[in-house]
Amino acid sequence: MSVKTLNDLFLETLKDLYYVENKLVKTLPKMAEKATSGELKQAIEDHLVETETHVKRLEQVFELLDERPSAKTCEALEGLLKEAEEVTGEIEDEQTLDAAIISSCQTVEHYEIARYGTLACWASEIGNPEIAELLEQTLEEEKEADEKLSEIAEDSVNQRAAA
Ligand code: FE
Ligand code: ZN
Ligand code: FE
Repeated sequence: MSVKTLNDLFLETLKDLYYVENKLVKTLPKMAEKATSGELKQAIEDHLVETETHVKRLEQVFELLDERPSAKTCEALEGLLKEAEEVTGEIEDEQTLDAAIISSCQTVEHYEIARYGTLACWASEIGNPEIAELLEQTLEEEKEADEKLSEIAEDSVNQRAAA
């Protein structure tokens, strides 16, 4: 395929994100399973439900563009997940493992935030406010998920300091 215009680039990036969200629907349950803190498990499970909505919203965007939803392998996400596997696989201490899971999840959220931010901006530039709106909704949920993870991390750090 060849990318010549911003429209082409938009579609390529959309396919990348469609891959990301679908992959995360499969990956987040495994992350939740590995986590030991109940609060962390819950946060990941809650975000899984949102992630399913993210897939649906991207399908709406494809539809608005008269395109069939399709995914293009995101090598960046594959790399992040591979690294997360490697790191979490080596840790036995439960609190340290949770810290590693939070860190890995936040790295993924930051990737999504970057991509959705860019895509929402391009949607406005291309002159499609309806699409921009859909992407911004997801962007907000990614930011909230990231903040929730920060809160959990800070709470557990405080708990450890108090122990
Ligand atoms: Fe998402
Ligand atoms: Zn990617
Ligand atoms: Fe997310």
